[in-house]
Amino acid sequence: MRVRIVLFTSDLRVHDHPPLRAALNAADAVVPLFVRDRGITATGFPAPNREAFLADCLRDLDEGLRERGGRLVVRSGDVVDEVAKVVSETDARAVHLASGVSAYARRREDRLRDVLEGLGCDLVVHDAVVTCVPPGAVTPAGRDHFAVFTPYHRHWSQHGTRAVVRAPQTVTVPDAVGSEDLPAREDVSGVSPALAEGGERAGRARLTAWLRSGIAGYEDGHDDLAGDVTSRLSPDLHFGTVSPVEAVQRARAAGGPGAEAFVRQLAWRDFHHQVLAARPDAAHDNYRSQDDRWRSEQAAAQEIEAWRQGLTGYPIVDAAMRQLRHEGWMHNRGRLLTACFLTKTLYVDWRVGARHFMDLLVDADVANNQLNWQWMAGTGTDSRPNRVLNPVTQAKRYDPDGAYVRRWVPELAELSGAAIHEPWKLTGLDRAAFDYPDPLLDLSDGLARFKRARGLD
Ligand SMILES: Cc1cc2nc3c(=O)[nH]c(=O)nc-3n(C[C@H](O)[C@H](O)[C@H](O)COP(=O)(O)OP(=O)(O)OC[C@H]3O[C@@H](n4cnc5c(N)ncnc54)[C@H](O)[C@@H]3O)c2cc1C
Repeated sequence: MRVRIVLFTSDLRVHDHPPLRAALNAADAVVPLFVRDRGITATGFPAPNREAFLADCLRDLDEGLRERGGRLVVRSGDVVDEVAKVVSETDARAVHLASGVSAYARRREDRLRDVLEGLGCDLVVHDAVVTCVPPGAVTPAGRDHFAVFTPYHRHWSQHGTRAVVRAPQTVTVPDAVGSEDLPAREDVSGVSPALAEGGERAGRARLTAWLRSGIAGYEDGHDDLAGDVTSRLSPDLHFGTVSPVEAVQRARAAGGPGAEAFVRQLAWRDFHHQVLAARPDAAHDNYRSQDDRWRSEQAAAQEIEAWRQGLTGYPIVDAAMRQLRHEGWMHNRGRLLTACFLTKTLYVDWRVGARHFMDLLVDADVANNQLNWQWMAGTGTDSRPNRVLNPVTQAKRYDPDGAYVRRWVPELAELSGAAIHEPWKLTGLDRAAFDYPDPLLDLSDGLARFKRARGLD
């Protein structure tokens, strides 16, 4: 019996899955394998929200495979050792894998290639599974990646996408291959109370509902914090329960300005992936140094903690930070203004904020999280690295009647309209009626410090 292995990583689906399709075409049986990789645990990145969502995804992937006569094989340990064991158990001729962009994913590929070669087994790496356009497929003349989004987007749009691959009807898995029990969401502690449900079925339902009734309002509404009309597909794209290629093609088929704006965001996702692929060090080092001498974590400890807890005294910042804790997800406008507040107003190193987001965000990945943090800190690809978002102006613009703040900062809920954004303007007994902190600092002081630090004063 000719056997091939499909190693699932950030592509936990059966629809539009080129590695699964290729393995099935070439073999009599496949082993759909997921390794709970101790190497990832050791990087310090596992977080309850992603662990819980992952547990949902694995259960659902198993069900999707069972409907087709197969099942998911789960093992724990070092990913390369575990794959090698399954190769030996099944005498598999090839392992299929979606290409990754992080330094870790690259090392995994290299190590797998080395070990599999010794076992007489091929490694087949598939592009355009995790992204729409593979990193390096479009480049500016003489460079290995685009550092500016607009020209990247133009080339990306012209490049086009591969055809969507249909889900298999039948999957045959060799009987003898053993699997551990699947993890369950209930076994994970510390999960955000309103974490979304994971899995391909839930993800596809979200995509379909979004295309049917959400996308049309996206262009006008995507920055409306209270309206909450973005797709919320980021966890599905992160875990690969929704294929980015399929999302782009179905959005284009839906058409209209909302679809165009949505596809542009998916190009942003690919953009950050191609930056990270070319500059893996950008996960922890400045992409473009601004010679910052950030305040030390010790000196800013109290302010950092207030930011994490949603107690800065700036209601819009606090609302967004509390949404993050409650849902394991935050609206993009919230991410922008909380990241700006930490890095520019408080002048704290972007890595401190990125780590907190990594701990809580269900969609956190190195490419999108670290590079968006760098973008906002001005150490990344933003062509205006010193822009500072004023949280009060942002609040009045993107939450004009205060509904978002009212939702997440209930202690201020009685304040009507936009007055909720500036509770410090209340005086005497009116102010005392609200159990809510005064602002951590005056915005003009924060701005002056930032300008001094960047030599702009
Ligand atoms: C400081 C900061 C940290 C961030 N960390 C992450 C992260 O860890 N993971 C993550 O997926 N996104 C991250 N983003 C990008 C963006 O905020 C989220 O992708 C978006 O809010 C997810 O909501 P949605 O799915 O409803 O997005 P939609 O507005 O519906 O957009 C559709 C999809 O496009 C992609 N996308 C949208 N905006 C961006 C962007 N700026 N960069 C890259 N991809 C984008 C996402 O995959 C998203 O699901 C971050 C942004 C900032 C400013």
